Amino acid sequence: MQIAIASGKGGTGKTTLSVALAQAWNGPVQLLDCDVEAPNASIFLSLENSSEQTVSVPIPVVDSSRCTGCGKCAAVCEFNALAVAGKSVLVFEELCHSCGGCTRICPAQAITEQPRGIGKIRTGQFGTIRLAEGRLDIGRAMAPPLIRAVKKSADPALPILIDCPPGTSCPMITAMKGSDFAILVTEPTPFGLHDLVLAVETVRLLAIPFGVIINRSDSGDARVVEYCEKEKIRLLLQIPESRKIAEAYSRGETLLSAEPALKTPLQEIIRSIR
Ligand code: SF4
Ligand code: SF4
Repeated sequence: MQIAIASGKGGTGKTTLSVALAQAWNGPVQLLDCDVEAPNASIFLSLENSSEQTVSVPIPVVDSSRCTGCGKCAAVCEFNALAVAGKSVLVFEELCHSCGGCTRICPAQAITEQPRGIGKIRTGQFGTIRLAEGRLDIGRAMAPPLIRAVKKSADPALPILIDCPPGTSCPMITAMKGSDFAILVTEPTPFGLHDLVLAVETVRLLAIPFGVIINRSDSGDARVVEYCEKEKIRLLLQIPESRKIAEAYSRGETLLSAEPALKTPLQEIIRSIR
């Protein structure tokens, strides 16, 4: 069982809800923090026995003494990560997607691959929750390989909750792929609705069943609810604006510590998804 928690935009309370769902889970569960550019689930969960591993990707290195300047490597690179000038090849690491195409096509065998670290995975335990957190190194732009590594680090025998990166681009899709269900967290504002529509289009393209949670549900207008009704989208829960929750959040405390009564509806959501 793999459930993705996502949102079209940041700041909707996606991570807060991911942590709360993990705490409401009946039994051992894994929480994968795949929001690798800004992972913050561990702020709420003080990890015990944590360990860290570096994640690397292969990056091409060109041996200029073998290069003939034929330009085939730059021509095959769909990401413009290579530029050939005479017999010298420039590699723009930030653009490289580590597809291996240039290494394979080079007729002079002038290209080899070297590992380059892109980030770290920290894993640890908080009660019955096993947290795996991906953290992209500063200056690195390639989130998907690190997200894939975080997902690969999960124990397939245990249920998985994935805190996805916000938005609807490659990182979110990489995190969400393969999920049995998606929970889209939104807020009742024009921005919330706009980005929810994008998120709904994305999960429908991925053919993943989904439902919506509206956070700070009494802080905006009714357009998100009307949209869900019109699109026949399951509205799983509405959480009203609460100063108590906001204050707890600012102290690094969890949603359930501020509003323990939310545990029952969250458990009901888990039960109905299962
Ligand atoms: S394909 Fe090989 S030989 Fe041709 S320009 Fe690239 S590195 Fe040089
Ligand atoms: S490995 Fe792929 S993405 Fe990277 S430079 Fe070579 S062809 Fe381009």
